[in-house]
Amino acid sequence: MSRHEMYDCIGIGIGPYNLSLAALMEEKTELKVKFFDQTPEFQWHPGMLINQTDLQVPFIADLVTFANPQSRYSYLNYLHTHNRLYKFFFFQKFEIPRQEYNDYARWVVSQLRSCQFHSEVIGVTDEGDCYKVLIDNRLTDEREIYYAKHVVMGTGSKPLILDGMKGLPVGDVHHTSQYLFHKNTTIKGSSITIVGSGQSAAEVFLDLLTEQVNHSYQLTWLTRSEGILQLESSKLGQEFFAPDYVDYFHGLTYEKRMEALKTLDQLRNGIDPDTLNNIYNILYNHSVSDKSPSITIQPLTEVNKIRKEGDRYVLNCRQWQEDRDFSYQSDKVILATGYKPNIPGWFFDEFEDKIVWEDEKKYKVSRNYKIQFKEESNRGHHFYTVTNLEHSHGAGATNLGLAVDRNIQIINDIVGENVYEVQRNTIFSQFTMDI
Ligand SMILES: Cc1cc2nc3c(=O)[nH]c(=O)nc-3n(C[C@H](O)[C@H](O)[C@H](O)COP(=O)(O)OP(=O)(O)OC[C@H]3O[C@@H](n4cnc5c(N)ncnc54)[C@H](O)[C@@H]3O)c2cc1C
Repeated sequence: MSRHEMYDCIGIGIGPYNLSLAALMEEKTELKVKFFDQTPEFQWHPGMLINQTDLQVPFIADLVTFANPQSRYSYLNYLHTHNRLYKFFFFQKFEIPRQEYNDYARWVVSQLRSCQFHSEVIGVTDEGDCYKVLIDNRLTDEREIYYAKHVVMGTGSKPLILDGMKGLPVGDVHHTSQYLFHKNTTIKGSSITIVGSGQSAAEVFLDLLTEQVNHSYQLTWLTRSEGILQLESSKLGQEFFAPDYVDYFHGLTYEKRMEALKTLDQLRNGIDPDTLNNIYNILYNHSVSDKSPSITIQPLTEVNKIRKEGDRYVLNCRQWQEDRDFSYQSDKVILATGYKPNIPGWFFDEFEDKIVWEDEKKYKVSRNYKIQFKEESNRGHHFYTVTNLEHSHGAGATNLGLAVDRNIQIINDIVGENVYEVQRNTIFSQFTMDI
């Protein structure tokens, strides 16, 4: 049996971005809201919740603090509630364990009435003055219908797997997003190869390097990049992840924005220095013994295709600087080939012809996160998005540090007043000169 209810706002997906929105809405507004997620419970990238990995942003980028440091949903209140504040005080680190961030977010979920799991949004249609949201409730096996004045798409990202690497047995060849689910079988292989060189690749390499002493596998790391390079983390460089830069970036033309993204590559791609240091320390310590485990690390190497041959996998590789093709064999392969925005198929079915596109799959989005429709006149109901924003809002689009500022703007826009104060002129850098 379906239900018919009208909401002020419905959130599609409950990752950190929409969870922050749910917490901020519940704490300071009277809005009637509901958030849906297809998974049974909140888990933040569970396949990558590797022991000893940290959040890449300071804990202040929790779900609420930038809007309201006094919020009961703050990370500090989570610590206090769990009697962990003194331990954290002596821990003296801004970057908290990823597993703890996940636990913190789950603690916030447990207090919110608006979050419903087991619920996939399978369609949204424009009803003229509101949206109709169709839910597949996987717990009850029922279809549910809701109506909402506004919707916010927070569907996150999905693994990017290259064409020549699809369709192989997942226990042997899988994306990093699945890493922990298959780790027990992976480490039983006699050779393991990681393909790619972002933060996820480095974390998986470090984890397997740490495990290697208890196993006898050959561990290989192949990447197309020029080197295993560090993320630019200077403090003034990090100011590009402040809302002030988003203001500047959003005001540029589409072409200038695309150019700017390329120039900021060092800020977006690369590996956290602590992870790289940990890797090097282990490699150095291993090298003291003549029985050191077998390791290959090779940048400048593109993997184009992987095929199964008997019990092993053959990787078609190319050292692109030397222009030399070769093949490489491995028992297990982990693909650290990145992520792409997760825009549900129904979105295109319903909205493709109605909205303004800046380029293929790059919809036009207003500064306050509304997808732009061709016919904007008298629109009182809005489709907001916190997904697929890099082209419109810049390099920090997938950075947790900007989630709260984004949600402040969405809430203020929906309510029509400044529920939360927007903070600007917050950093030392400026990006244009007032003349
Ligand atoms: C391994 C990893 C580590 C990261 N670490 C950091 C970090 O340390 N610091 C940082 O700033 N950023 C980090 N990021 C980047 C970014 O902060 C995260 O990807 C973050 O989870 C994005 O939040 P989100 O809410 O957009 O999406 P997600 O966390 O991906 O959540 C989206 C949710 O939407 C749900 N969903 C999708 N489609 C539907 C549907 N049709 N119906 C219902 N539910 C749906 C999914 O089930 C999912 O739960 C990391 C990314 C990854 C992959």
